[in-house]
Amino acid sequence: MTSEAGVNYLVVQENLERLKLTQMVSALDRIAEEASQGQWSYIEFLGKLLEEEMTARQERRMAIRQRMSRFPWVKTLDQFDFSFQPGLDERKIRELATLRFIEKAETILLIGPPGVGKTHLAIALGLEAVRAGYAVYFITLSELAEQIPREKTDPLWSEKMRALTYPRLLIIDEVGYVPLDSLASYFLFSLVCRRYEKGAMIWTSNKGFAEWSTIFAGDEVLTTAILDRLLHHSTVINIRGRSYRLREKIQAGSIVGYPTVSTNLTADAKEKTR
Ligand code: ADP
Ligand code: MG
Repeated sequence: MTSEAGVNYLVVQENLERLKLTQMVSALDRIAEEASQGQWSYIEFLGKLLEEEMTARQERRMAIRQRMSRFPWVKTLDQFDFSFQPGLDERKIRELATLRFIEKAETILLIGPPGVGKTHLAIALGLEAVRAGYAVYFITLSELAEQIPREKTDPLWSEKMRALTYPRLLIIDEVGYVPLDSLASYFLFSLVCRRYEKGAMIWTSNKGFAEWSTIFAGDEVLTTAILDRLLHHSTVINIRGRSYRLREKIQAGSIVGYPTVSTNLTADAKEKTR
């Protein structure tokens, strides 16, 4: 490289840095080398260099979006063993993974006993949504309940409501493990009303719908109002199979008498789509 070319090179690098085109800075040497070897046109060279920057930015945005989703752990659909859960309709899950339910602002309800993969599926679908560019937010119902202010007039009330209304996909996990008091139940009802026909949701629960009033402060009227909206445009997935968590122990024979098919679910929801 002549000294003149060397100076130009440094200027180019410095300008790229000033413009915060960081990936172009690090790819410059490699792409310039490939360009001279491949006898690329100037436009081709610029195009390849820009492509590096765009790809890196896209990946950065995705990583940020995934962090903001607050998944407790990350598992994909590919990591889900459908053969372990033969009662589960794989085609239906694959259809949900096309994310049409997000565009149609529908709700997915994953119902079943512990360990059958409800959270796994919710996260996997959430991850698909993040990859497709949607804002996603994951929260357990008990975490959510803890964040609800004790007064409706508290400015935090509407702030929290806005934050949970904003994401295109809201995942509420573990509905049913912890019962809510009447104020928290009312917050949930308001949230469901705000998102109704506007924002998609995934709810997971260990309880069949007949028991849901015990989650919402024993309030049958409020529970019916919540369920009515959730189920209107929804897909209900009942997973009645075995716990994946316990499978190794069962295989090893250390848990005797564990039911191979759970019968304790009272969910009577018909699987319905719009
Ligand atoms: P749930 O939310 O229904 O209690 P999880 O989704 O937390 O169950 O699943 C428990 C553990 O078992 C997780 O680590 C999950 O990834 C794994 N798991 C559950 N079902 C399957 C499956 N069919 N294939 C692969 N891993 C599974
Ligand atoms: Mg779970």
